[in-house]
Amino acid sequence: MDRQQEFVLRTLEERDIRFVRLWFTDVLGTLKSVSVAPAELEAAFEEGIGFDGSAIEGFARVFESDMVAMPDPTTFQVFPFEGGVSGESARMFCDILLPDGGPSWADPRHVLRRALSKAAEKGFTFYTHPEIEFFLLENGPQDGSVPIPVDTGGYFEHTTHAVARDFRRQGVLALERIGISVEFSHHEVAPGQQEIDLRYADALTTADNIMTFRHVVKEVALSTGVQASFMPKPFTDQPGSGMHTHLSLFEGERNAFHDSGDPMKLSKVAKSFIAGLLVHAREYTAVTNQWVNSYKRLFPQHLPDRITESPAYVCWGHLNRSALVRVPAYGKPNSARVEVRSLDSAANPYLAFAVLLGAGLKGIEEGYELPPGAEDDVWSLTSAERRAMGYEALPENLAEAIDVMAGSELVAEVLGEHVFDFFLRNKRAEWEQYRREVTPYERQRYLAL
Ligand code: GLN
Ligand code: MG
Ligand code: MG
Ligand code: MG
Repeated sequence: MDRQQEFVLRTLEERDIRFVRLWFTDVLGTLKSVSVAPAELEAAFEEGIGFDGSAIEGFARVFESDMVAMPDPTTFQVFPFEGGVSGESARMFCDILLPDGGPSWADPRHVLRRALSKAAEKGFTFYTHPEIEFFLLENGPQDGSVPIPVDTGGYFEHTTHAVARDFRRQGVLALERIGISVEFSHHEVAPGQQEIDLRYADALTTADNIMTFRHVVKEVALSTGVQASFMPKPFTDQPGSGMHTHLSLFEGERNAFHDSGDPMKLSKVAKSFIAGLLVHAREYTAVTNQWVNSYKRLFPQHLPDRITESPAYVCWGHLNRSALVRVPAYGKPNSARVEVRSLDSAANPYLAFAVLLGAGLKGIEEGYELPPGAEDDVWSLTSAERRAMGYEALPENLAEAIDVMAGSELVAEVLGEHVFDFFLRNKRAEWEQYRREVTPYERQRYLAL
């Protein structure tokens, strides 16, 4: 038993914790959990916990379904606020193994680990910093009717909306108590919409933190009598919920994206990385924006008083919020980074970070040249102007996104054959199901024909 494992067992005993939840994530980004009694944990560290992989979305075919969840003691965390009759609980993320002890190719954590080790071979550590947007709703109707946001607030509003303000305070406190540092939190543009930004960390930790975040935010919302939703675009006439993510590569202590000699302070590594993000953008969009609904967010929508701020064209810009990739204002050398603005709050963070890293690394390997930045508002250009400037459109819907992904060697390599095939099959089925649906919109428009 190693020291981390001993620490876990000692803490459970000292704090009299009766429930340890073992967490992992399926291919579509749903959190899975199995509780074990502390007495079982010593054995679990040795042999893992067996489960039926065929019951988990994307994990296995029925004839090879035995899988093992192996707890990762470095992710051990006590949940002090889950008190009540049962006392405190704790959780650990797991790596998923096959019965022979090898890593499961279906485990999203493993997909990201593999991408990270490719970066490590080149001397890079990959850091990510997500800005997570979501809605707080008064109710969560299950029948498809329009939900009611908890307030009518807007961007950065503070004084009038007690529900959201109290929620953010409680939510942020709960996150801090389990070791997830929050950098900013504020009301977002739409009624009921919130944003909470996590402090940057290595990508595996960030992905674990995002999974924990979604769980904690939903729980805190429920305990306040409201519902939290990470759906990318719940309202027709309001902006959707993005998960802009800031990316950087470090070489040891040094930010490899920074170059003080460059007018933009961006290194050659950074420029090729951005170029990789652009060249492969259409290929990985199905992963960063994986639902039918994701594409309702990803296009510029002119509302009466504003334009929704989500990217629709493949370009980058300095400070440009209409671009897919934005280079934020220059700060300290170590904060050099790029912001990808397409990801939404319902993406599988492990797979999304893996494909973004894969695309950036490809740019570095092949020495891709960075095209000129877009300094215009690309949303207001005509399509002919955009074409002349060489800005391709992101896929317009899930069907187009999966078609482009299906032809991508890069995405196949990063996800591995199993996840790649499962994902395409699953997403095609989702599209087919949506496609046959006759919607209220169509009846409203066409019934009188
Ligand atoms: N909600 C917007 C999106 O969908 C982002 C708004 C913002 O953070 N400026 O990406
Ligand atoms: Mg923000
Ligand atoms: Mg925002
Ligand atoms: Mg942002």
